[in-house]
Amino acid sequence: MLKFIVVTGGVLSGLGKGIAAASIGHLLSDKYKVIPIKCDGYLNVDPGTMNPVEHGEVFVLDDGGEVDMDFGHYERFLGITCKFKWNLTMGKVFNEIREKERRGDYLGKTVQYVPHVTNLIKEKFFEIAKEEDADIVLIEIGGTIGDMENELYLEAARQLKNDVGSENVLYVHLTYVPILSAVNEQKSKPTQQSVHLLLQKGVQPDIIIGRCSEYLEDRIKEKIAQFCNIKKEAVITGLDVDDLYKIPMVFEQEGIINIISRHLKIRINKDLHKWKELIRNRESAKKNVTVAICGKYTQLEDSYASIIESLNHCSSNLNCKISLKWVDTTDETKIESQLKGVDGIIVPGGFGSRGTEGKMKAIKYARENNIPFLGLCFGLQMAVAEFARNVCKLEGANSTEIDPKTKYPVIDILPEQKNVTSKGGTMRLGAYDAYILKNSKVYELYNSVKVSERHRHRYEVNPEYHKVLQEKGMLLSGTSQDGKLVEFIELPKHKFFVATQAHPELKSSLDKPAPLFYGFVKACMK
Ligand code: GLN
Repeated sequence: MLKFIVVTGGVLSGLGKGIAAASIGHLLSDKYKVIPIKCDGYLNVDPGTMNPVEHGEVFVLDDGGEVDMDFGHYERFLGITCKFKWNLTMGKVFNEIREKERRGDYLGKTVQYVPHVTNLIKEKFFEIAKEEDADIVLIEIGGTIGDMENELYLEAARQLKNDVGSENVLYVHLTYVPILSAVNEQKSKPTQQSVHLLLQKGVQPDIIIGRCSEYLEDRIKEKIAQFCNIKKEAVITGLDVDDLYKIPMVFEQEGIINIISRHLKIRINKDLHKWKELIRNRESAKKNVTVAICGKYTQLEDSYASIIESLNHCSSNLNCKISLKWVDTTDETKIESQLKGVDGIIVPGGFGSRGTEGKMKAIKYARENNIPFLGLCFGLQMAVAEFARNVCKLEGANSTEIDPKTKYPVIDILPEQKNVTSKGGTMRLGAYDAYILKNSKVYELYNSVKVSERHRHRYEVNPEYHKVLQEKGMLLSGTSQDGKLVEFIELPKHKFFVATQAHPELKSSLDKPAPLFYGFVKACMK
Protein backbone atom coordinates (compact mmCIF):
# COMPACT_ATOMS: atom_id res chain seq x y z
CA MET A 1 0.00 0.00 0.00
CA LEU A 2 1.59 3.29 -1.04
CA LYS A 3 -0.55 6.41 -1.07
CA PHE A 4 0.27 9.97 -2.02
CA ILE A 5 -1.24 13.15 -0.68
CA VAL A 6 -0.33 16.26 -2.63
CA VAL A 7 -0.85 19.64 -1.00
CA THR A 8 -0.88 22.81 -3.10
CA GLY A 9 -1.78 26.38 -2.23
CA GLY A 10 -3.57 29.16 -4.05
CA VAL A 11 -4.58 32.83 -3.95
CA LEU A 12 -1.73 34.05 -1.77
CA SER A 13 1.32 32.89 0.09
CA GLY A 14 1.53 32.57 3.84
CA LEU A 15 -1.76 30.71 4.27
CA GLY A 16 -0.11 27.96 6.28
CA LYS A 17 0.34 25.21 3.72
CA GLY A 18 3.08 23.64 5.82
CA ILE A 19 0.87 23.56 8.89
CA ALA A 20 -2.06 22.22 6.88
CA ALA A 21 0.10 19.44 5.43
CA ALA A 22 1.63 18.65 8.84
CA SER A 23 -1.84 18.58 10.41
CA ILE A 24 -3.09 16.10 7.83
CA GLY A 25 0.02 14.06 8.50
CA HIS A 26 -0.65 14.23 12.22
CA LEU A 27 -4.12 12.75 11.78
CA LEU A 28 -2.68 9.84 9.81
CA SER A 29 0.47 9.30 11.79
CA ASP A 30 -0.56 6.87 14.55
CA LYS A 31 -1.42 4.14 12.18
CA TYR A 32 0.62 4.87 9.09
CA LYS A 33 4.18 5.72 8.32
CA VAL A 34 3.84 9.17 6.82
CA ILE A 35 6.87 10.66 5.07
CA PRO A 36 6.78 14.34 4.11
CA ILE A 37 8.45 15.72 1.00
CA LYS A 38 8.67 19.47 0.50
CA CYS A 39 9.21 20.81 -3.01
CA ASP A 40 10.70 24.29 -3.16
CA GLY A 41 10.98 26.20 -6.42
CA TYR A 42 14.06 28.28 -5.73
CA LEU A 43 17.44 27.67 -7.34
CA ASN A 44 19.44 27.68 -4.13
CA VAL A 45 20.48 24.13 -3.33
CA ASP A 46 19.18 24.63 0.19
CA PRO A 47 18.01 27.56 2.33
CA GLY A 48 21.32 27.54 4.25
CA THR A 49 22.62 30.48 2.26
CA MET A 50 19.48 32.61 2.63
CA ASN A 51 18.98 35.43 5.08
CA PRO A 52 16.55 34.35 7.81
CA VAL A 53 14.74 37.68 7.62
CA GLU A 54 13.86 36.85 4.03
CA HIS A 55 13.16 33.17 4.30
CA GLY A 56 12.51 32.46 7.97
CA GLU A 57 14.54 30.14 10.12
CA VAL A 58 16.87 27.62 8.51
CA PHE A 59 15.90 24.29 10.00
CA VAL A 60 18.70 21.78 10.56
CA LEU A 61 18.18 18.04 10.65
CA ASP A 62 20.06 15.26 12.45
CA ASP A 63 21.81 14.35 9.20
CA GLY A 64 23.11 17.92 8.88
CA GLY A 65 20.70 18.95 6.11
CA GLU A 66 19.68 22.60 6.08
CA VAL A 67 16.05 22.63 5.07
CA ASP A 68 12.89 24.68 4.85
CA MET A 69 11.36 25.60 8.18
CA ASP A 70 8.26 23.57 7.33
CA PHE A 71 10.34 20.56 8.34
CA GLY A 72 10.09 21.87 11.86
CA HIS A 73 6.32 21.50 11.64
CA TYR A 74 6.64 18.05 10.12
CA GLU A 75 8.93 16.80 12.87
CA ARG A 76 6.81 18.29 15.60
CA PHE A 77 3.47 17.17 14.16
CA LEU A 78 4.51 13.73 12.93
CA GLY A 79 6.97 12.80 15.67
CA ILE A 80 9.62 11.75 13.15
CA THR A 81 13.20 12.62 12.27
CA CYS A 82 13.32 13.99 8.75
CA LYS A 83 16.09 13.73 6.19
CA PHE A 84 17.78 16.27 3.93
CA LYS A 85 16.75 14.32 0.88
CA TRP A 86 13.08 14.96 1.63
CA ASN A 87 13.49 18.64 0.79
CA LEU A 88 13.59 18.94 -2.98
CA THR A 89 14.68 22.28 -4.39
CA MET A 90 15.05 23.26 -8.02
CA GLY A 91 18.70 23.90 -7.14
CA LYS A 92 19.12 20.23 -6.21
CA VAL A 93 17.02 18.96 -9.11
CA PHE A 94 18.94 20.90 -11.75
CA ASN A 95 22.28 19.97 -10.21
CA GLU A 96 21.39 16.35 -10.67
CA ILE A 97 20.02 16.84 -14.18
CA ARG A 98 23.28 18.52 -15.20
CA GLU A 99 25.40 15.80 -13.65
CA LYS A 100 23.39 13.18 -15.50
CA GLU A 101 23.63 15.05 -18.76
CA ARG A 102 27.42 15.43 -18.43
CA ARG A 103 27.75 11.73 -17.65
CA GLY A 104 25.90 10.95 -20.84
CA ASP A 105 22.96 9.32 -19.08
CA TYR A 106 20.51 10.79 -21.58
CA LEU A 107 22.04 8.91 -24.53
CA GLY A 108 22.03 11.71 -27.05
CA LYS A 109 18.51 12.91 -26.29
CA THR A 110 17.52 16.56 -25.92
CA VAL A 111 17.12 17.04 -22.17
CA GLN A 112 13.73 18.62 -21.52
CA TYR A 113 11.61 19.85 -18.63
CA VAL A 114 9.07 17.21 -19.53
CA PRO A 115 9.77 14.31 -19.35
CA HIS A 116 13.33 14.47 -17.98
CA VAL A 117 12.96 16.90 -15.11
CA THR A 118 9.46 15.75 -14.17
CA ASN A 119 10.61 12.12 -14.28
CA LEU A 120 13.51 12.91 -11.99
CA ILE A 121 11.12 14.55 -9.54
CA LYS A 122 8.83 11.52 -9.61
CA GLU A 123 11.79 9.17 -9.21
CA LYS A 124 12.64 11.06 -6.02
CA PHE A 125 9.10 10.61 -4.72
CA PHE A 126 9.21 6.86 -5.30
CA GLU A 127 12.79 6.43 -4.16
CA ILE A 128 12.12 8.15 -0.84
CA ALA A 129 8.90 6.16 -0.37
CA LYS A 130 10.81 2.94 -0.92
CA GLU A 131 13.80 3.83 1.23
CA GLU A 132 11.56 4.77 4.12
CA ASP A 133 9.06 2.01 3.59
CA ALA A 134 6.37 4.68 3.67
CA ASP A 135 2.64 4.04 3.74
CA ILE A 136 1.79 7.58 2.84
CA VAL A 137 3.94 10.19 1.14
CA LEU A 138 2.84 13.71 1.89
CA ILE A 139 4.03 16.04 -0.85
CA GLU A 140 3.87 19.75 -0.22
CA ILE A 141 4.43 21.91 -3.26
CA GLY A 142 5.84 25.28 -2.32
CA GLY A 143 4.58 28.65 -3.50
CA THR A 144 1.22 29.50 -4.97
CA ILE A 145 -0.52 28.02 -8.00
CA GLY A 146 0.51 30.11 -10.98
CA ASP A 147 4.11 30.58 -9.83
CA MET A 148 6.44 29.72 -12.66
CA GLU A 149 9.09 28.08 -10.46
CA ASN A 150 6.81 25.39 -9.08
CA GLU A 151 5.22 24.26 -12.35
CA LEU A 152 7.49 21.25 -12.82
CA TYR A 153 6.63 19.88 -9.40
CA LEU A 154 2.96 20.36 -10.11
CA GLU A 155 3.27 18.60 -13.45
CA ALA A 156 5.07 15.68 -11.78
CA ALA A 157 2.36 15.53 -9.13
CA ARG A 158 -0.34 15.61 -11.81
CA GLN A 159 1.20 12.63 -13.57
CA LEU A 160 1.17 10.61 -10.35
CA LYS A 161 -2.54 9.95 -10.73
CA ASN A 162 -1.97 8.05 -13.95
CA ASP A 163 1.05 6.26 -12.55
CA VAL A 164 -0.49 4.96 -9.34
CA GLY A 165 -4.24 5.15 -9.92
CA SER A 166 -6.73 7.68 -8.63
CA GLU A 167 -7.49 5.81 -5.38
CA ASN A 168 -3.82 6.09 -4.43
CA VAL A 169 -3.38 9.82 -4.74
CA LEU A 170 -5.32 12.62 -3.12
CA TYR A 171 -4.97 16.29 -4.08
CA VAL A 172 -5.56 18.90 -1.41
CA HIS A 173 -5.73 22.57 -2.31
CA LEU A 174 -5.49 25.32 0.30
CA THR A 175 -7.05 28.67 -0.61
CA TYR A 176 -8.27 31.82 1.02
CA VAL A 177 -11.84 32.83 1.78
CA PRO A 178 -11.88 36.51 2.69
CA ILE A 179 -14.68 38.18 4.59
CA LEU A 180 -15.48 41.51 3.05
CA SER A 181 -16.04 43.85 5.94
CA ALA A 182 -18.43 46.21 4.14
CA VAL A 183 -20.95 43.42 3.55
CA ASN A 184 -19.67 41.02 6.23
CA GLU A 185 -19.80 38.13 3.82
CA GLN A 186 -17.54 35.18 3.07
CA LYS A 187 -16.34 35.30 -0.52
CA SER A 188 -15.65 32.27 -2.68
CA LYS A 189 -14.39 33.90 -5.87
CA PRO A 190 -10.65 33.77 -5.10
CA THR A 191 -11.04 30.05 -4.39
CA GLN A 192 -12.92 29.46 -7.63
CA GLN A 193 -10.27 31.26 -9.61
CA SER A 194 -7.44 29.46 -7.90
CA VAL A 195 -9.05 26.10 -8.58
CA HIS A 196 -9.58 27.07 -12.20
CA LEU A 197 -5.85 27.72 -12.48
CA LEU A 198 -5.20 24.32 -10.97
CA LEU A 199 -7.63 22.71 -13.41
CA GLN A 200 -5.82 24.35 -16.30
CA LYS A 201 -2.74 22.48 -15.11
CA GLY A 202 -4.75 19.28 -15.15
CA VAL A 203 -5.20 18.80 -11.43
CA GLN A 204 -8.66 18.31 -9.97
CA PRO A 205 -8.53 18.83 -6.20
CA ASP A 206 -10.23 16.22 -4.03
CA ILE A 207 -10.27 18.40 -0.93
CA ILE A 208 -10.35 22.18 -0.74
CA ILE A 209 -9.34 23.86 2.49
CA GLY A 210 -10.58 27.43 2.71
CA ARG A 211 -8.52 29.50 5.10
CA CYS A 212 -10.91 31.87 6.82
CA SER A 213 -11.29 33.83 10.04
CA GLU A 214 -14.60 32.01 10.67
CA TYR A 215 -15.96 28.56 9.97
CA LEU A 216 -17.10 28.40 6.35
CA GLU A 217 -20.85 28.74 6.00
CA ASP A 218 -22.84 25.98 4.37
CA ARG A 219 -23.79 28.30 1.57
CA ILE A 220 -20.16 29.02 0.75
CA LYS A 221 -19.18 25.38 0.94
CA GLU A 222 -21.98 24.57 -1.50
CA LYS A 223 -20.87 27.25 -3.89
CA ILE A 224 -17.22 26.17 -3.80
CA ALA A 225 -18.30 22.55 -4.25
CA GLN A 226 -20.40 23.38 -7.26
CA PHE A 227 -17.83 25.53 -9.03
CA CYS A 228 -14.92 23.24 -8.26
CA ASN A 229 -16.47 19.82 -9.02
CA ILE A 230 -16.25 18.35 -5.55
CA LYS A 231 -18.67 17.30 -2.82
CA LYS A 232 -19.65 19.86 -0.23
CA GLU A 233 -18.22 17.65 2.54
CA ALA A 234 -14.82 17.91 0.87
CA VAL A 235 -14.73 21.66 1.48
CA ILE A 236 -13.00 22.12 4.83
CA THR A 237 -12.47 25.22 6.92
CA GLY A 238 -8.88 26.18 7.54
CA LEU A 239 -9.76 28.29 10.53
CA ASP A 240 -7.56 31.10 11.83
CA VAL A 241 -6.53 29.88 15.26
CA ASP A 242 -4.55 31.41 18.10
CA ASP A 243 -2.62 28.18 18.47
CA LEU A 244 -1.53 26.21 15.42
CA TYR A 245 -1.64 22.91 17.30
CA LYS A 246 -5.43 23.23 17.10
CA ILE A 247 -5.46 22.82 13.33
CA PRO A 248 -5.58 19.00 13.33
CA MET A 249 -8.60 19.24 15.63
CA VAL A 250 -10.31 21.76 13.35
CA PHE A 251 -9.73 19.50 10.33
CA GLU A 252 -11.03 16.48 12.21
CA GLN A 253 -14.12 18.33 13.31
CA GLU A 254 -14.71 19.46 9.73
CA GLY A 255 -14.78 15.84 8.61
CA ILE A 256 -11.49 15.60 6.73
CA ILE A 257 -10.83 12.08 8.06
CA ASN A 258 -13.88 10.67 6.32
CA ILE A 259 -12.99 12.24 3.01
CA ILE A 260 -9.39 11.02 3.12
CA SER A 261 -10.26 7.51 4.23
CA ARG A 262 -12.99 7.10 1.66
CA HIS A 263 -10.84 8.38 -1.19
CA LEU A 264 -7.67 6.49 -0.34
CA LYS A 265 -9.55 3.45 0.97
CA ILE A 266 -7.74 3.44 4.28
CA ARG A 267 -8.88 3.37 7.90
CA ILE A 268 -7.81 6.24 10.10
CA ASN A 269 -7.99 6.35 13.86
CA LYS A 270 -6.20 9.06 15.69
CA ASP A 271 -6.24 9.70 19.39
CA LEU A 272 -6.16 13.45 19.85
CA HIS A 273 -6.73 13.45 23.61
CA LYS A 274 -3.19 14.09 24.73
CA TRP A 275 -2.71 17.07 22.42
CA LYS A 276 -6.08 18.50 23.39
CA GLU A 277 -5.12 18.32 27.03
CA LEU A 278 -1.71 19.92 26.49
CA ILE A 279 -3.31 22.77 24.57
CA ARG A 280 -5.91 23.23 27.28
CA ASN A 281 -3.11 23.38 29.85
CA ARG A 282 -1.57 26.44 28.36
CA GLU A 283 -4.90 28.12 27.81
CA SER A 284 -5.97 27.69 31.39
CA ALA A 285 -2.59 28.64 32.85
CA LYS A 286 -2.78 31.26 35.57
CA LYS A 287 0.91 32.03 35.88
CA ASN A 288 2.48 34.37 33.34
CA VAL A 289 6.15 35.01 32.63
CA THR A 290 7.84 37.41 30.23
CA VAL A 291 10.81 36.21 28.24
CA ALA A 292 13.01 38.59 26.28
CA ILE A 293 14.50 37.36 23.02
CA CYS A 294 17.51 39.48 22.19
CA GLY A 295 18.64 39.25 18.58
CA LYS A 296 18.94 41.11 15.33
CA TYR A 297 16.37 39.29 13.23
CA THR A 298 13.49 40.45 15.43
CA GLN A 299 11.56 42.04 12.56
CA LEU A 300 10.52 38.60 11.34
CA GLU A 301 9.34 36.25 14.07
CA ASP A 302 9.71 33.33 11.65
CA SER A 303 13.48 33.75 12.00
CA TYR A 304 13.11 32.35 15.50
CA ALA A 305 10.25 29.93 14.80
CA SER A 306 11.63 26.93 16.67
CA ILE A 307 12.49 28.99 19.74
CA ILE A 308 8.93 30.26 19.91
CA GLU A 309 7.71 26.68 19.47
CA SER A 310 9.96 25.37 22.22
CA LEU A 311 8.63 28.00 24.62
CA ASN A 312 5.08 27.03 23.65
CA HIS A 313 5.88 23.43 24.48
CA CYS A 314 7.09 24.48 27.92
CA SER A 315 4.00 26.57 28.37
CA SER A 316 1.82 23.47 27.93
CA ASN A 317 3.91 21.27 30.16
CA LEU A 318 4.48 23.79 32.94
CA ASN A 319 1.01 25.38 32.94
CA CYS A 320 2.37 28.82 32.36
CA LYS A 321 1.66 31.54 29.83
CA ILE A 322 4.75 33.02 28.21
CA SER A 323 4.77 36.53 26.80
CA LEU A 324 7.58 37.31 24.42
CA LYS A 325 9.43 40.57 24.38
CA TRP A 326 11.50 41.22 21.26
CA VAL A 327 14.65 43.16 21.95
CA ASP A 328 16.57 44.33 18.90
CA THR A 329 20.22 44.24 19.90
CA THR A 330 21.46 46.48 17.10
CA ASP A 331 20.69 49.52 19.25
CA GLU A 332 22.86 48.78 22.24
CA THR A 333 21.87 51.92 24.12
CA LYS A 334 18.38 50.66 24.82
CA ILE A 335 19.09 47.16 26.05
CA GLU A 336 18.94 47.50 29.83
CA SER A 337 15.84 49.68 29.80
CA GLN A 338 13.99 47.12 27.72
CA LEU A 339 15.04 44.26 29.95
CA LYS A 340 13.68 45.80 33.15
CA GLY A 341 11.12 43.49 34.69
CA VAL A 342 11.53 40.50 32.34
CA ASP A 343 11.61 37.07 33.95
CA GLY A 344 14.14 35.51 31.60
CA ILE A 345 16.49 36.33 28.74
CA ILE A 346 17.30 34.29 25.65
CA VAL A 347 20.13 35.14 23.30
CA PRO A 348 19.58 33.06 20.17
CA GLY A 349 21.80 32.05 17.28
CA GLY A 350 23.17 34.58 14.84
CA PHE A 351 25.88 35.51 12.40
CA GLY A 352 28.07 38.55 11.85
CA SER A 353 29.01 41.48 14.03
CA ARG A 354 25.89 43.64 13.92
CA GLY A 355 24.12 43.64 17.26
CA THR A 356 26.78 41.71 19.15
CA GLU A 357 27.69 44.42 21.68
CA GLY A 358 23.98 44.62 22.47
CA LYS A 359 23.84 40.87 23.00
CA MET A 360 26.74 41.03 25.41
CA LYS A 361 25.02 43.83 27.28
CA ALA A 362 21.89 41.71 27.63
CA ILE A 363 23.96 38.78 28.90
CA LYS A 364 25.80 40.96 31.39
CA TYR A 365 22.48 42.24 32.65
CA ALA A 366 21.20 38.67 33.12
CA ARG A 367 24.40 37.56 34.81
CA GLU A 368 24.64 40.46 37.22
CA ASN A 369 20.97 40.59 38.11
CA ASN A 370 20.51 36.84 38.58
CA ILE A 371 17.91 36.68 35.80
CA PRO A 372 17.50 33.27 34.12
CA PHE A 373 19.51 33.17 30.91
CA LEU A 374 19.56 30.73 28.05
CA GLY A 375 22.17 31.10 25.30
CA LEU A 376 21.82 29.25 22.02
CA CYS A 377 24.83 28.77 19.76
CA PHE A 378 25.88 32.37 19.11
CA GLY A 379 24.28 33.03 22.51
CA LEU A 380 26.87 30.73 24.10
CA GLN A 381 29.68 32.39 22.21
CA MET A 382 28.56 35.83 23.33
CA ALA A 383 28.20 34.62 26.92
CA VAL A 384 31.78 33.35 26.86
CA ALA A 385 33.05 36.63 25.38
CA GLU A 386 31.12 38.65 27.96
CA PHE A 387 32.45 36.51 30.82
CA ALA A 388 36.00 36.72 29.48
CA ARG A 389 35.80 40.51 29.28
CA ASN A 390 34.03 41.30 32.51
CA VAL A 391 34.93 38.46 34.87
CA CYS A 392 38.27 37.17 33.56
CA LYS A 393 39.25 40.77 32.76
CA LEU A 394 40.46 39.96 29.27
CA GLU A 395 39.68 43.34 27.83
CA GLY A 396 38.21 43.31 24.34
CA ALA A 397 37.84 39.52 24.30
CA ASN A 398 35.72 38.51 21.36
CA SER A 399 34.95 36.00 18.66
CA THR A 400 37.19 36.27 15.62
CA GLU A 401 34.01 36.24 13.53
CA ILE A 402 33.31 39.71 14.95
CA ASP A 403 36.78 41.06 15.61
CA PRO A 404 39.45 39.15 13.67
CA LYS A 405 42.18 41.17 15.42
CA THR A 406 41.05 40.75 19.02
CA LYS A 407 43.80 40.26 21.55
CA TYR A 408 41.78 37.53 23.24
CA PRO A 409 40.13 35.30 20.62
CA VAL A 410 38.03 33.33 23.11
CA ILE A 411 35.84 32.15 20.25
CA ASP A 412 37.68 31.08 17.14
CA ILE A 413 37.15 29.21 13.92
CA LEU A 414 37.89 25.50 13.87
CA PRO A 415 41.23 24.79 12.19
CA GLU A 416 39.54 22.39 9.75
CA GLN A 417 37.11 25.16 8.70
CA LYS A 418 39.79 27.74 8.00
CA ASN A 419 40.29 27.03 4.32
CA VAL A 420 36.65 26.69 3.37
CA THR A 421 35.46 29.27 0.87
CA SER A 422 32.28 27.69 -0.49
CA LYS A 423 29.27 28.86 1.48
CA GLY A 424 26.66 26.12 1.52
CA GLY A 425 26.80 23.29 4.05
CA THR A 426 30.33 24.04 5.23
CA MET A 427 29.57 24.49 8.89
CA ARG A 428 29.52 21.97 11.68
CA LEU A 429 26.04 20.77 10.87
CA GLY A 430 23.67 18.22 12.32
CA ALA A 431 23.56 15.99 15.38
CA TYR A 432 26.62 15.62 17.59
CA ASP A 433 27.01 13.90 20.94
CA ALA A 434 28.03 15.84 24.00
CA TYR A 435 29.35 14.34 27.22
CA ILE A 436 27.87 15.90 30.33
CA LEU A 437 29.41 16.42 33.75
CA LYS A 438 27.43 14.95 36.59
CA ASN A 439 26.72 17.57 39.26
CA SER A 440 25.73 20.09 36.65
CA LYS A 441 22.43 21.77 35.86
CA VAL A 442 22.62 20.39 32.34
CA TYR A 443 22.91 16.84 33.69
CA GLU A 444 19.99 17.45 36.01
CA LEU A 445 17.85 18.56 33.06
CA TYR A 446 18.79 15.87 30.55
CA ASN A 447 19.29 13.21 33.19
CA SER A 448 21.97 11.64 31.03
CA VAL A 449 25.73 11.79 30.61
CA LYS A 450 25.51 11.65 26.85
CA VAL A 451 23.14 13.85 24.85
CA SER A 452 22.70 14.56 21.18
CA GLU A 453 21.64 17.94 19.81
CA ARG A 454 21.81 19.62 16.42
CA HIS A 455 24.47 22.12 15.40
CA ARG A 456 24.96 24.86 12.84
CA HIS A 457 28.08 26.94 13.35
CA ARG A 458 31.68 27.51 12.31
CA TYR A 459 33.19 28.94 15.46
CA GLU A 460 33.98 27.28 18.80
CA VAL A 461 35.16 28.19 22.27
CA ASN A 462 38.94 28.41 21.88
CA PRO A 463 40.53 25.54 23.88
CA GLU A 464 43.32 27.87 24.98
CA TYR A 465 40.87 29.72 27.17
CA HIS A 466 39.08 26.76 28.80
CA LYS A 467 41.30 27.00 31.86
CA VAL A 468 40.88 30.68 32.64
CA LEU A 469 37.11 30.49 32.15
CA GLN A 470 36.93 27.56 34.57
CA GLU A 471 39.17 29.21 37.12
CA LYS A 472 36.87 32.21 37.22
CA GLY A 473 33.81 30.08 37.87
CA MET A 474 32.36 29.05 34.53
CA LEU A 475 31.48 25.37 34.41
CA LEU A 476 32.08 23.73 31.03
CA SER A 477 29.33 21.27 31.75
CA GLY A 478 29.29 19.43 28.44
CA THR A 479 31.99 18.86 25.83
CA SER A 480 32.85 16.63 22.89
CA GLN A 481 34.27 13.27 23.95
CA ASP A 482 37.88 14.48 23.71
CA GLY A 483 37.01 17.56 25.78
CA LYS A 484 38.12 19.92 23.02
CA LEU A 485 34.79 21.34 21.90
CA VAL A 486 32.62 23.07 24.46
CA GLU A 487 28.97 22.10 24.08
CA PHE A 488 27.40 23.43 27.30
CA ILE A 489 28.39 26.07 29.81
CA GLU A 490 26.78 27.23 33.03
CA LEU A 491 27.36 29.44 36.03
CA PRO A 492 26.69 27.29 39.09
CA LYS A 493 26.15 30.21 41.45
CA HIS A 494 23.53 31.83 39.24
CA LYS A 495 19.80 31.03 39.45
CA PHE A 496 19.87 29.72 35.88
CA PHE A 497 22.64 30.66 33.49
CA VAL A 498 23.04 27.99 30.86
CA ALA A 499 24.14 28.11 27.24
CA THR A 500 24.83 25.59 24.54
CA GLN A 501 26.73 25.55 21.29
CA ALA A 502 23.84 23.50 19.85
CA HIS A 503 20.28 24.36 18.88
CA PRO A 504 18.11 22.31 21.25
CA GLU A 505 15.04 24.22 20.01
CA LEU A 506 15.18 22.11 16.85
CA LYS A 507 14.23 18.93 18.66
CA SER A 508 11.53 20.18 21.01
CA SER A 509 8.00 18.86 20.73
CA LEU A 510 4.67 19.38 22.43
CA ASP A 511 4.89 16.08 24.31
CA LYS A 512 8.61 16.40 24.99
CA PRO A 513 9.87 19.96 25.44
CA ALA A 514 13.60 20.53 25.02
CA PRO A 515 15.17 20.01 28.49
CA LEU A 516 17.12 23.28 28.53
CA PHE A 517 14.03 25.30 27.65
CA TYR A 518 12.05 23.42 30.25
CA GLY A 519 14.61 24.21 32.94
CA PHE A 520 14.85 27.82 31.78
CA VAL A 521 11.09 28.45 31.90
CA LYS A 522 10.84 26.72 35.26
CA ALA A 523 13.52 29.08 36.57
CA CYS A 524 11.64 32.05 35.09
CA MET A 525 8.54 30.98 37.02
CA LYS A 526 10.30 31.04 40.38
N1 GLN B 1 28.00 32.68 13.89
C1 GLN B 1 28.32 31.66 14.82
C2 GLN B 1 29.16 30.56 14.20
O1 GLN B 1 29.19 30.40 13.01
C3 GLN B 1 27.07 31.09 15.47
C4 GLN B 1 26.15 30.42 14.53
C5 GLN B 1 24.77 30.20 15.10
O2 GLN B 1 24.36 30.85 16.04
N2 GLN B 1 24.02 29.30 14.51
O3 GLN B 1 29.81 29.81 14.90
